[in-house]
Amino acid sequence: MQVHNYKELSEKIASLIKEDPQKLFELANKIRIKNRKNIVSLCAIVNAKSGLCAEDCIFCSQSIYHKTDIARYPFLTAERILKKAKEAASIRASCFGIVISGRGLTSDKEISIICSALQLIKQNLSSLHRSASLGIISKDKLLRLKKAGLECLHHNLETSEGFFPNICTTHSYKDRLDTIKAAKEIGLEVCSGGIFGLGENIQDRIALAFAIKELDVASVPLNFLTPIKGTRCETFDCLAPIEILKTIAIFRILLPDKDIKVCGGRNVNLRSLQSMIFYAGASGMMIGNYLTTAGNDPKADLKMIEDLGLRVKV
Ligand code: SF4
Repeated sequence: MQVHNYKELSEKIASLIKEDPQKLFELANKIRIKNRKNIVSLCAIVNAKSGLCAEDCIFCSQSIYHKTDIARYPFLTAERILKKAKEAASIRASCFGIVISGRGLTSDKEISIICSALQLIKQNLSSLHRSASLGIISKDKLLRLKKAGLECLHHNLETSEGFFPNICTTHSYKDRLDTIKAAKEIGLEVCSGGIFGLGENIQDRIALAFAIKELDVASVPLNFLTPIKGTRCETFDCLAPIEILKTIAIFRILLPDKDIKVCGGRNVNLRSLQSMIFYAGASGMMIGNYLTTAGNDPKADLKMIEDLGLRVKV
């Protein structure tokens, strides 16, 4: 594909999507093989503080704006987080993310728990990549966490700048950008992607891919809405599997060398087509359960990777 600038590339992709999605997948797969070979990276997470979030993200079961039937609990202990990290390693995740609900860390006690958990993971599971998703966070707090062993900050942009006010009004797209920039400034690796199926159009998805390209992050998690009862998205239709595969392909073509991971909603949305994510350009996926919804049996996911002749990253 000969292209000269972002606008032209964006137009080319949009026309390829309309004309022949198979060509789009072929191109994305070729780019995946060239840049990521036959390696699949697996990440797993723990929901270290669940529910009661004062933010109003329309898709989220943990927001106080929604009446959902999820487990709500304050911070897990550092030892409990370590136990979850051990479980993640046992299902061959190479990266483990400590995720909390809420706008951000609210007290010194909370930061201390995350620092202790990071230190314990570093001591006990030195080869497990240590990541955290902690909401909006300042450079000072990030420095403290980095000192304790944090290697990667996960913070999604979620959607395009233009569509963002449709999915959240309690914080801004700029708040999210500032957190990512702070992490990059102190030398943390960054993992940033988004969620799809919220009513955004193809141009919003392309715009998100370009925004992430601009930030030059290491990995890009792609989530697909699982409509949860009690949220404002409960009546939304799931995206069709072909739409999801096209979205993955767009990200691979625009972010050729990045680790593109399919995360929340993989099983519910793609059903029997889950193995197709790699042929659409994905190079990784989340294994185990998601934040408040269940994932596949990890054994079945590992078997799928083996059956495809791909290798799990160690
Ligand atoms: S996505 Fe995060 S910030 Fe938004 S409501 Fe859920 S927990 Fe809160």
